[in-house]
Amino acid sequence: MPLPAALLQPCTEEYQGLREWMMSVDYVSLSIISYLCGKEALYMESLTEDQIASDLRGVLEKFLKKHIPLPTKVVRSRWGNSKNTRGSYCYIKVGATVGDVDTLAQPICDNNGKPLLQFAGEATHSSFYSTTHGALLTGHREAKRILDLYGIANSK
Ligand SMILES: Cc1cc2nc3c(=O)[nH]c(=O)nc-3n(C[C@H](O)[C@H](O)[C@H](O)COP(=O)(O)OP(=O)(O)OC[C@H]3O[C@@H](n4cnc5c(N)ncnc54)[C@H](O)[C@@H]3O)c2cc1C
Repeated sequence: MPLPAALLQPCTEEYQGLREWMMSVDYVSLSIISYLCGKEALYMESLTEDQIASDLRGVLEKFLKKHIPLPTKVVRSRWGNSKNTRGSYCYIKVGATVGDVDTLAQPICDNNGKPLLQFAGEATHSSFYSTTHGALLTGHREAKRILDLYGIANSK
C-alpha cells in the first residue's frame, strides 16, 4: 500500500501533527528504530508488517536517494489500539496549555475539601509530562498529599 500523501510532504502547518524519526539502534546491529505519533501512528497500526517494511524503505529511499534493502523483520507497537493504553504518553495538543495539565492533577474532593480520588502519572506534571521522572515526581506529590491529609511527618 502506498504511503498517504501527507507522509511524503514536508511538515507544513496543515500536517503539523506529522512527526517521524528514524535512528540506528546502537546495541542491535543493522537495526533502525522509527518513532511515529499522532494519526500517522494509528495509520501505522492498521498496516501489516510487510507494508510497514515496504513503506519505511520507501521513506529512506526518498531521502537517501539510493536503493535500500527491504527490512527482514519489523517489530512494532500497537499502543494506540490497545484497550489498556490507548496511546503511549501525553502531549499538549494545539489549543491546550499546561493549565490543562494542572487541572488534570487536581484531586476529586468531598464537600470538606478532603481528597477522595487522586491522580498521578506523567500526564499530571506540568513541566515534566511525557517523562518517567515526571511520573515519579507526581507519585511523590500525591503521596505527600496523603501524608499531609493525615498529619504524618514526611522524613524526605
Ligand atoms: C517509546 C517510548 C519511549 C520513551 N522514552 C522515554 C525516555 O527516554 N525518557 C523518559 O523519561 N520517558 C520516556 N518515555 C515516557 C515514559 O515511559 C512515560 O512517561 C512513563 O512511563 C509514564 O509513567 P506513568 O506511570 O505515568 O504511566 P504508564 O507507565 O503508562 O503506566 C500506566 C499503567 O496503567 C495501566 N492502565 C491503563 N489503563 C488501565 C486500566 N483501565 N486499569 C488498570 N490499569 C490500567 C497501563 O497498563 C500502565 O501499566 C517513553 C515512552 C515511550 C512509549
